[in-house]
Amino acid sequence: MSVSEPTSYAFLCRTCLGSGYVGMPERPKTCIECGSGALVLHDELFSLSLAHIDCDAFYCSVEKRDNPALVNRPVIVGGEQRGVVAAACYIARTYGIRSAMPTWQAKRACPELVIIKPRMAIYQTIGRQIREMMQALTPLVQPLSIDEAFLDLAGTQKLHHASPALSLARLQQHIKTELGLTVSIGLAANKSMAKIASDQDKPNGFYVIGAAEAKSWLKDRPASLLFGLGKSQMAKLKAAGVHSCGDIVNLPAGQQKSLFGSDAQRLVNLASGIDNRPVVPYSRAKSISSETTFTENISELDTLLAMAESLSAKVSRQLKAKRRAAIRVTVKLKFPTHRLITRSRTLAAPTQMHHDIFDAATDVLRAEIGNGKSYRLLGVGVELSEQDIDESRDAPTSLLDIVDDNRQKKNKLEAAIDQLHEKLGDDVLKTGRQLKKDPKKKP
Ligand SMILES: [Mg+2]
Repeated sequence: MSVSEPTSYAFLCRTCLGSGYVGMPERPKTCIECGSGALVLHDELFSLSLAHIDCDAFYCSVEKRDNPALVNRPVIVGGEQRGVVAAACYIARTYGIRSAMPTWQAKRACPELVIIKPRMAIYQTIGRQIREMMQALTPLVQPLSIDEAFLDLAGTQKLHHASPALSLARLQQHIKTELGLTVSIGLAANKSMAKIASDQDKPNGFYVIGAAEAKSWLKDRPASLLFGLGKSQMAKLKAAGVHSCGDIVNLPAGQQKSLFGSDAQRLVNLASGIDNRPVVPYSRAKSISSETTFTENISELDTLLAMAESLSAKVSRQLKAKRRAAIRVTVKLKFPTHRLITRSRTLAAPTQMHHDIFDAATDVLRAEIGNGKSYRLLGVGVELSEQDIDESRDAPTSLLDIVDDNRQKKNKLEAAIDQLHEKLGDDVLKTGRQLKKDPKKKP
C-alpha cells in the first residue's frame, strides 16, 4: 500500500465528542470536525468496553478546586509534623514528593509546600457523586477506592446511542463541568490492562490499549505495573532477577512453577495482557461478625473484654482476608433471659485494624457492663465500607494514621502479629488479658 492511499482511522475527539471513522492518507493529528488536538485514535477504539477511571490527585484537586489560590502551588493533603503525605498534587510530585512519605521529608524537599489537613467527609461525598455518574452508564461499576473504579460497558451501546469509548469521554467531560475535577480513563480489553492504561496519560487522560497489542505493549515494561501481583510475589520476582513482564513470560515453565506454584499460570497470563476477572459491582457482604455463647453467665468486665478482644481479632482477620474495611462496630449482648441488646459505635475512618475494632467494642462494654448484670452471649460485628482496600497502594491504612503517630505504632505491631499468625497459626499469640481470663466457651 502506498503512503498516499487513504486508511480508515477510528477516532474520538475529546473536545467536540465527534467520533467515527475517517479515511486519511496519514494518521490525523487534529480533529477534522473541530480542529482540537485532543484526539484518540485506535484500531480497537469501538470494540473495547472495559475501563478503569481514576481521579487525578484526588484530595489535592478537591482542595485546589475549593481554593483557587492554591492552583499553582505545591500542595499535599496530610498530617503536620509527625504525619505522612496522603496525597500530593502534580506540582508537589515534581519535587519527588509521594504518598506515604513523612511530611517533614516532603517539607524538606519543598520548603514552600502547602500542607492541608484531610477533609474526609467532603472527599467521600464527591467520591459518591462520581460513582453515581458512573452507575448511570452501567450497573457494572466496581470501586477500588474512594476515587477509582472499574466499569464494564459491554452492551450499553444501544442504551446510550454511543460506543463505550464515547460514553466514557462524555462522562469525563461531565465530571469536569459538574464537579470541577479531572479523571483519567484507561480503556482496554480487561481489568489489569485498563488499570495500567488509566495511569499512562495523567492528568485528564484517555489511553487505550488494545487486546492485539497488550502482550507486546507489556513486554519491556516493569512487572510492578500489573494489577493483581502481590507484594510477596513482587519480592520473589526481584530476587530471581525478573523485572519486566516479558521476563515473566519468558521464564522456563519450571521456574514459573517453582516461584509461584499454583498461581504461575495466572501471573504469566497477566504478564501477557490476559486477565479474565469480571467487574463485580459492590457490595457483596454488608457486615461481618463473630460471637460466643458462654457455658456459664458472665458479669465481669475484664472477662468480657478478653473475649471481645479475640472476637475483634477474628473479625479483623476476615476483613483483611476479604480486603474490606469496617465503618461501624456493633456489640451484641444477650442476657440470661435471652433478651438481646446491640450497641454501636461509628468509626472515625474506615479500618481493618484489630485495635480500632477492639477500642470501639471496649467503649461499648465499659458503658454497658456493671451493676451485677450478667450475660450468656457476646458478639462483635462490623458494618462494611462499600469500597475494597487496595493492597497495591502504598497509601496509609487509614487517613487517621496521618494525624496520629500512636496509631502508626499500633498498626506496625499489628502487622507483625499478623505475620506471625500467618506463619504459625491463629492461636500462637495471646494478649495478657486473654491469658488471664480464659473465656468459658461452649465447645
Ligand atoms: Mg486517583
